[in-house]
Amino acid sequence: MSADAPITQDVMTIPRKVPEGPVNLVGMTRDAMRDALIAMGTPEKQAKMRVGQIWQWIYQWGVRDFDAMTNLSKAFRAELTEAFVIEIPEVVSKQVSTDGTRKWLVRIAGGHEVEVVYIPEEGRGTLCISSQVGCTLTCSFCHTGTQKLVRNLTAGEIVGQVMMARDDLDEWPEHGKRTEDARLLSNIVLMGMGEPLYNFENVRDAMKIAMDPEGIQLSRRRITLSTSGVVPEIARTAEEIGCQLAVSFHATTDEVRNKLVPINKRWNIAELLDALRTYPKVSNSERITFEYVMLDGVNDSDEDAHRLVELIKGIPAKINLIPFNEWPGAPYKRSSNNRIRAFSEIVYKAGYASPVRKPRGEDIMAACGQLKSATERARKSRREIAAETGLN
Ligand code: SAH
Ligand code: SF4
Repeated sequence: MSADAPITQDVMTIPRKVPEGPVNLVGMTRDAMRDALIAMGTPEKQAKMRVGQIWQWIYQWGVRDFDAMTNLSKAFRAELTEAFVIEIPEVVSKQVSTDGTRKWLVRIAGGHEVEVVYIPEEGRGTLCISSQVGCTLTCSFCHTGTQKLVRNLTAGEIVGQVMMARDDLDEWPEHGKRTEDARLLSNIVLMGMGEPLYNFENVRDAMKIAMDPEGIQLSRRRITLSTSGVVPEIARTAEEIGCQLAVSFHATTDEVRNKLVPINKRWNIAELLDALRTYPKVSNSERITFEYVMLDGVNDSDEDAHRLVELIKGIPAKINLIPFNEWPGAPYKRSSNNRIRAFSEIVYKAGYASPVRKPRGEDIMAACGQLKSATERARKSRREIAAETGLN
């Protein structure tokens, strides 16, 4: 592949519905669940009510066993047990950092593994979830980008990560109760492995389930989707999901961004900014988060900071500065603390919040861009990455 070749998407999509054997209810939309119940023989008139009941058991109280669903008749529960399962990814290992950050490795169908990270904060906590195994994109500073895309996660596997974390945090309310407002798991960020907008439908369905008021009931303001800049899907995210948006901006000229975030060769900075300008209005959300990884001598000059604030003028924004998380063999170094501070200062003086992301869970390699399953063998070669990103 030449350096100028367009970024093509090579996504192996697995079927969204399993045709035979017990079907997993986790990840189905309410409509899909209704259809599945009718196909099983539930009278159409009752189907909506039954969905409501099953939904609450699964997503409000975290129940995985049909027999525990005591407001359903025994006969109906037996039918459900025949036709369906309630399954979430299986935890393979768990690490807890000295700062309380938790990292789980979970196994999904086919034996693949993805990482999920929980970051506790004062009065809240953020879960960082994955949307793909690997990534088709090849951002040159990102560890996940060195791993080939294996497959998209299903909606069940995406919302299943949230359910797994609630299990581990022991945060399902008692039967009949609702979750209190003060939650351990209060926010979700789609900042783990993969590009969420290259798995749009599954991410959307999973986040709709997480937002459903009769279940996990997280407000759309507490869910942040991070994209590298899949421009055509940004408007759709505003309309169909309506969550908060973060964008991996990382550079202030097309020349540098082409190297750092190669999807920029397909949709450049100007096109990306156009899409971002309309996002807050359509989604009725507040600010867009611009993620900016601080790479020593690459994108961290005062000129970059000035260019950045010029570029985003008129967009309600917050700039999240991420000190580069180094990984073995990475072609970059982290900017110095002084450089990061100076950059942050310029952005702040221009009127934008410019927090520097605090490294968390460093002792367990839980930081952004370091998530990569140790067991995946499908690796891109260094030559492949260099060719795809135009880095030499
Ligand atoms: N694919 C999506 C979401 C996953 S990456 C995206 O690119 O936005 C989540 C964030 O971590 C992105 O902003 C990404 O650019 C950043 N990131 C990746 N590798 C990193 C590293 N080594 N150090 C710091 N941030 C990194
Ligand atoms: Fe993929 Fe995001 Fe990593 Fe880029 S930064 S390679 S889009 S996971």
